[in-house]
Amino acid sequence: MPQNPQPRRNVGQIPTYVPGKPPTPRPGLTTYKLSSNENPYPPLPGVVEAATRAAEAMNRYPDMGNSALYDALSAKLGVPTSDLAAATGSVALIYQLLNALCDPGDEVVYAWRSFEAYPIAATVADATSVRVPVLADGRHDLDAMAAAVTERTKVVIVCTPNNPTGPAVSQAELDEFLAKVPSHVVVVVDEAYLEFVRMDDAVDGVATYRAHPNVIVTRTFSKAYGLAGFRVGYAIAQAPLAGALRSVSLPFGVSSVAQAAAIASLEAEAELLERVDALVAERTRVVDGIRAAGWDVPDAQGNFVWFGLGERTTDFAAAADELGIVVRPFAGEGARVTIGETEANDRVLELARTFPR
Ligand code: PMP
Repeated sequence: MPQNPQPRRNVGQIPTYVPGKPPTPRPGLTTYKLSSNENPYPPLPGVVEAATRAAEAMNRYPDMGNSALYDALSAKLGVPTSDLAAATGSVALIYQLLNALCDPGDEVVYAWRSFEAYPIAATVADATSVRVPVLADGRHDLDAMAAAVTERTKVVIVCTPNNPTGPAVSQAELDEFLAKVPSHVVVVVDEAYLEFVRMDDAVDGVATYRAHPNVIVTRTFSKAYGLAGFRVGYAIAQAPLAGALRSVSLPFGVSSVAQAAAIASLEAEAELLERVDALVAERTRVVDGIRAAGWDVPDAQGNFVWFGLGERTTDFAAAADELGIVVRPFAGEGARVTIGETEANDRVLELARTFPR
């Protein structure tokens, strides 16, 4: 009997990534997508021009070494280029690092609920996920995460701010946690929403990686920088780990257009900060309004807010859709709502006021 090709056993177990849905069209009503933590602003000044120039050379491969991007990041962050690894979004770096670090059955510890790509990436790497429930207020339970580390643990992921619940860890909490984790276990600090953090004692990812050879900080151009469609993220880690990440990367992964757009975005720092400040101000307005309407929502340090709705999640998402906004429901748990355009945020407030608590 001829046999059909069989993927590795873990491939059949990979959970499906559920992307944020687009809104249902509503005749006469502008609809808004608040389901993917995207940035509502158009590209930063100079970015379209830089990307367009790069597109004119699309017959050529991109610079595989991302050298101009590494130079720009190195200058911005004050880190050597040997400590950087870029990829097609920070999600690619998470895949790469789990593949580089885990043998089958090794354990990856992360908070839950957290970013839905973690279980997917762990399964792709044939690693075993160890999920540590977040606390009632949506924070990481770092004591329980440290206690969950075993001889099989290769990686612990700290998502700060946590997608989808919203709170961030403080530097003191992270330091205390890192002191408990054995030095051969890699701690990933996923800072996808770093630019939106406004809290005392916020994590300094660069200082943290400098002090810890086992820390990998991951960041992205998808959120604050508004380049989600171009797919650029990067990791910062001491040279041995950064080198491992680069060596398992897809050759020529980050396109020339994406590299050029990322560099031009870094050059528009002042405008970036203005936009991020405006989104943070909108976040404050939305969270205050939601709380004033009687909801108990966790601290929101990213560009999104979490409604812990339990069984009412699907109804909430349907009510949002009626108002012309689409949110990201996690059935039976809650809904994550992105801070978007002012009009979209007004509708979130209307939803908070009209949906039964
Ligand atoms: N980490 C977290 C916590 C995220 O929420 C996301 C995007 N949803 C990512 C990483 C990945 O972002 P990207 O691949 O677009 O850089």
